[in-house]
Amino acid sequence: MSAERPLDFIRQIVADDVASGTHGGRVLTRFPPEPNGYLHIGHAAAICLDFGVAEEVGGRTTLRMDDTNPTTEDPAFVEAIAEDIRWLGFEWEGDIRYASDYFEALYRMAERMIEDGFAYVDSLSEEEIRAYRGTVTEPGRPSPYRERSVEENLDLLRCMRAGEFEDGSHVLRARIDLAASNMKMRDPLMYRIRHAHHYRTGDEWPIYPMYDWAHGQSDAIEGITHSFCTLEFDNNRELYDWFIEHTRPSASGLDEVPGAEGGGGDELGSWNPRPRQYEFARLNLDYTVVSKRKLKALVTGGHVDGWDDPRMPTLAGLRRRGVTPEAIRIFIDQVGIAKADKRVDIGTFEYAIREALNTVAPRVLCVLDPLRVVVENFPEAEVEWSDAPYFPHDVESPPGDWPDTRRIPFTRELLIERDDFREHPPGGFRRLAPGREVRLRHAYFLRCRDVVRDAAGEIVELRCTYDPETRGGSASDGRKPAGTIHWVSATESLPVEARLYDRLFADPDPSGDRREFLAHLNPDSLVRMTDARIEPSVAGDPPGTHYQFERQGYFVRDEGDTGNGERLVFNRTVALRDTWSRRAVDGAGAGDSATAVVRERGPRDRGAVADDDGPIGEDTGRAERDRARAASAELAARYERYRTELDLSEDAADLLSGDLATADYFEAASGGAADARAVANWLIHEVRGATDGHVTETRLAPEALAALVTLVETGTVSRPVAKELLPRLVESGGDPAEIVEREGLGRIEDSGRIESVVERVLSEHPAEVARYREGQSALSGFFIGQVMRATEGRADPGVVRELVEEKLG
Ligand code: ATP
Ligand code: MG
Repeated sequence: MSAERPLDFIRQIVADDVASGTHGGRVLTRFPPEPNGYLHIGHAAAICLDFGVAEEVGGRTTLRMDDTNPTTEDPAFVEAIAEDIRWLGFEWEGDIRYASDYFEALYRMAERMIEDGFAYVDSLSEEEIRAYRGTVTEPGRPSPYRERSVEENLDLLRCMRAGEFEDGSHVLRARIDLAASNMKMRDPLMYRIRHAHHYRTGDEWPIYPMYDWAHGQSDAIEGITHSFCTLEFDNNRELYDWFIEHTRPSASGLDEVPGAEGGGGDELGSWNPRPRQYEFARLNLDYTVVSKRKLKALVTGGHVDGWDDPRMPTLAGLRRRGVTPEAIRIFIDQVGIAKADKRVDIGTFEYAIREALNTVAPRVLCVLDPLRVVVENFPEAEVEWSDAPYFPHDVESPPGDWPDTRRIPFTRELLIERDDFREHPPGGFRRLAPGREVRLRHAYFLRCRDVVRDAAGEIVELRCTYDPETRGGSASDGRKPAGTIHWVSATESLPVEARLYDRLFADPDPSGDRREFLAHLNPDSLVRMTDARIEPSVAGDPPGTHYQFERQGYFVRDEGDTGNGERLVFNRTVALRDTWSRRAVDGAGAGDSATAVVRERGPRDRGAVADDDGPIGEDTGRAERDRARAASAELAARYERYRTELDLSEDAADLLSGDLATADYFEAASGGAADARAVANWLIHEVRGATDGHVTETRLAPEALAALVTLVETGTVSRPVAKELLPRLVESGGDPAEIVEREGLGRIEDSGRIESVVERVLSEHPAEVARYREGQSALSGFFIGQVMRATEGRADPGVVRELVEEKLG
């Protein structure tokens, strides 16, 4: 691995193929969703890869619905998928393709496989087939039907196709190897009988191809050259290759298949081109789920308001929430393509969203939780209009089609944010208080004279005066107000409902608990501010406008819900800065904010929020561990020690002292030089993730974990690099220090070296550089992401940012 790799491993493979003239330099990729749900942010990663890779080398990409499962698919999903891909900014080649268009071709190939002796009809039940298949440690046994004659097999398959048999009475299987170490190769099913209606082929087929049979062959039929999929299909590759080698292209009648570019002769395996599959890591995002099955459960269970609920990680939900395609592309680019599964911190995504919106979102004033202010020295019934700029000066080139300013009204009655006033201000409170003066954004200084309460003692109004000499925000005597706050006119503003979204789950890894991800839903994921008021200028703005409500966050008007026409509804896309503070236990992420590791946690202003090594879920697990400690004085003592001596949080101590194996592992890892709390963090967050919750089922020796933690704590290795390394260590063991040394994974200290990468990245992206210089400053995130990728996360992001900004001028 070289220190400066400009391309991820997939792009490198494709670049090499293009350079060496494989397939005559032709590159055809595909995105193959199953139309059984909406696309989510994980799919966006696959889309950006499938389309992006092809686009970058002048190749092409098809969109294929892998619709082999009649009972879960729906044309409405096909439409939604197509819309989402276009929204992301990609266009597929030709018409949408469908695996169901290849049913006939697949069937013909299957008949030919029987003739060639590579497939047979089995009449065991699926349960028996499973039992005959053996286990990972035991070979399978042949079915009594495995040696049926070609004639009998053909006859049975034709009767299956003619609809003469009941569901489940027979299947077609590939004849491969019942002793294969790869279970997928133990005579896998190719067809099942299913008398079910298919949304495209209707009742034409009583048998349906299995996904594993259809998927790879569909790639071959289409002439796909590079087929990318996620890691869980690793074992399937051998089977897809086997099918390619044991089918004859000419047997499929491909001339009749519209759009098919694949093909070949009558020889076994003479497919041209021959698709090659490469696997990459799934994208998993903290605090949400990216599985259609789980997303569907959220929808059908009524936990959210449809697939496009703004809290959903679906593209439709993100769009409704106000996330732009550009934000998604910046994010995916920063995360990059990896070979090992990883979870990405939601802060990385939020960062990309802010980057993308900063330069395009006009600033307006909106008060979410209003408190009335009467300006006693301003005349009643008078409205003073003034011009206010939509963008601050540091946004160099706001969208050209947007006006520079809008008119805002100042009146005797105003509304300010309830939170911006304190009767007894704590130290450091830089807003309004009795006797104090603040600046009203784009208007005057305002001084609070008196507080009016209702019968219950609640503050309902502030009596204030303004200083007419401070118009525009400064006083001639040079006095400084306590701070600047936003406001609107009580009489001229418009009523709105602002919907504030928080993460959908309270747990960073809700699926870590296999049994009940729904138990981790965040009850406060939607807060509706129904008394909010906004400045009147927005009334005439085009739908879909993204705004920054000053001091509050980015918002977009909800297109689906108009609030009964009585008030506008706005969705908060993202708060302005992180309202979620960094994790406290080990100061993770300090200085790494440009990369995928800004860990964030509970909102500061919500009081008691679990600290970051906090609840990991699994309530039943907790009960079990409590029982174990009640039964074992040893475990109970360890819990106590972790709490008191090591100062671990309650949850960390709980998780690590629930059984002796885990506790011993933890102590072995933290006994040496490594910091115990850092080790606890890694064990709980990362090792648990990489081992599916079973921290002791790992090849990673406790000493090796300690060594890895020390490498990170001493800054020898960056956190993202260490996190990427971890699953490998869990899988295969090894000495982290040695691997880091051998593969050159250490942090790059030398800023001259980083500088040269920055220079190369800039020179490789002249168009982006020009766009940046024309004012698209959000692109700095793109460049930083490229440099981080080129250095495999090894550069110091702070240094990268500085250098990028310096070079771009
Ligand atoms: P889900 O588990 O959400 O149902 P899926 O893999 O079953 O996802 P498909 O419609 O088969 O959904 O996915 C289409 C493509 O998107 C596949 O190539 C798949 O590998 C890819 N993909 C799905 N989820 C992710 C993810 N989280 N990250 C990256 N790629 C993904
Ligand atoms: Mg799938």
